[in-house]
Amino acid sequence: MSLKNDMEKVLISSEEIQVKVKELATTLSEEYKEEFPLLVCVLKGAMPFMSDLVKEMDIHLEMDFMDVSTYHGGTSSTGEVKIEKDLNTSVEGRDILIVEDIIDSGLTLAYLVDLLKYRKAKSVKIVTLLDKPTGRKNGLSADYSGFVIPHEFVVGYGLDYEEKYRNLPYVGVLKPSVYGG
Ligand code: 5GP
Repeated sequence: MSLKNDMEKVLISSEEIQVKVKELATTLSEEYKEEFPLLVCVLKGAMPFMSDLVKEMDIHLEMDFMDVSTYHGGTSSTGEVKIEKDLNTSVEGRDILIVEDIIDSGLTLAYLVDLLKYRKAKSVKIVTLLDKPTGRKNGLSADYSGFVIPHEFVVGYGLDYEEKYRNLPYVGVLKPSVYGG
């Protein structure tokens, strides 16, 4: 049985994602061509995006990975963030590009940006594939963003439901029956 049977709808196709990733990579390559940026992938969701993005960037860059968990009070994020896996690289004096899958409340990223600035990064910018501005609880905005999406729970291209569906090449919405509804 195909995983596609679990989808209510495909929101962004694999082809649309690949076109957008190439566009973002071209912009970022131009932006950072004089630098040696450190791309920080926020695990696990941003892994497919990071992987595709760096392959399209035609400049020298360094990669590192960070895993953070956000505490959830009920259904919404409280903004309390725990570092599950920290960077291996010093960020002091570096141009940092945080690579994220999706921005919803913005609380996780606000914490990360503050942390990297506290650690004396030279610059901190954000690239996100997906943006849900209606969920925002602070003034955070991405410097580079792929697609603005409605306030719906999406899976695929890194995004999970109970650790599943991260491997889908597209972004979509699950059928209610998948949640046991
Ligand atoms: P926030 O911006 O609210 O601090 O949190 C962003 C994180 O919440 C993302 O990195 C992702 O893990 C999770 N998240 C937010 N919206 C969605 C969604 O629609 N689907 C999935 N699977 N995760 C989401």
